[in-house]
Amino acid sequence: METSAAVLHEVGKPLVVERVEIAALKPRDVLVRIGASGLCHTDFEVMRGSLPLPLPIVLGHEGAGVVEAVGNEVTRVRRGDHVVCSWSPNCGHCFYCDQGEPILCEPLVAAVGAGTLPDGQSRLSLRGARLHHFSVVSSHAQHSVVPEAGAVPVPKEVPFDRACLIGCGVMTGVGAAVRVARVAPRSSVVVVGCGAVGLNVLQGARLAGARTIIAVDVSERHLAMAPGFGATHTVHAGREDPAAAVRALTGGRGADYAFEAAGNEASLQHTLEAARPGAAVVILGKTAVSAKVSLRFGSLMGEKRIVRSSYGGARPRVDFPRLAQAYLDGALRLDELITHRLTLADINAGFEGMERGEVTRAVVVF
Ligand SMILES: [Zn+2]
Ligand SMILES: [Zn+2]
Repeated sequence: METSAAVLHEVGKPLVVERVEIAALKPRDVLVRIGASGLCHTDFEVMRGSLPLPLPIVLGHEGAGVVEAVGNEVTRVRRGDHVVCSWSPNCGHCFYCDQGEPILCEPLVAAVGAGTLPDGQSRLSLRGARLHHFSVVSSHAQHSVVPEAGAVPVPKEVPFDRACLIGCGVMTGVGAAVRVARVAPRSSVVVVGCGAVGLNVLQGARLAGARTIIAVDVSERHLAMAPGFGATHTVHAGREDPAAAVRALTGGRGADYAFEAAGNEASLQHTLEAARPGAAVVILGKTAVSAKVSLRFGSLMGEKRIVRSSYGGARPRVDFPRLAQAYLDGALRLDELITHRLTLADINAGFEGMERGEVTRAVVVF
């Protein structure tokens, strides 16, 4: 069958919306008619070449939609289910899956690097030539083929443009607070970088019952949004020293939990300096994989527990429906994350807005 997809042919060039060919489903494949697809910074990293992947590729890894067809061995979803796509459909039986670290699943990591589905093959082609999948989702398209484990049913009451956010930004941020750091009630939290992921760390900290939640950013727009997501205090990193401000708000010690969600050297340093001795430090932001950063060594000391997290410790089949239900219960904010809604034809405008810092989440709505 044919569908419309936004294709990246060349680094540094805009996406091109084209008619692409989808091959017949394999036994464990699920065909999703995408309802909405969020523009995440990781897509942009591929467009800019800081995350090198084989081209041409269909980007998008924050998708939600309705199951249109399933392969003949699929048992966990059926036609008509509303699903959020997971970019971590792990195999369940490799070295890392056995270790309980599904995000590191070996066939999954290999497939993401090769731009294929986990079986090492592509289902997408363009004028007879192979087209690559992105993060086994490729949701910037009207239809997407994902593995069974990558299509996670959620309640149909959640609109697709809200549901898709659960698939990356919300899971990553809320999960970092709730699952990775396991923020304790009455504790203090600092989040450096309050874009889409950072705002979700704030609301994860609020859901976990933190008492002092400090948002640090250099953007007035982000800081203005932060209290709505749970921040009790905001600090403009361009006007005051974030570490000093955080210490002043936490009895002179620094925060119990410190999250980095901006992805640059300064934000890493601010996060480490604002963490008290013994704090949990979670690094979420990204810069070019080849970039070198320098940090004050003393800021790494004091028995800090420093971890990197890419997907908030996601267990998609457990966490996605829970997050969707939390939204329906009014406990989780999703509406306010969406600053722009676009058609697929306008997708490049969304990335341009992201580059200018005007966007929290832009969502392509089909
Ligand atoms: Zn993402
Ligand atoms: Zn595995």
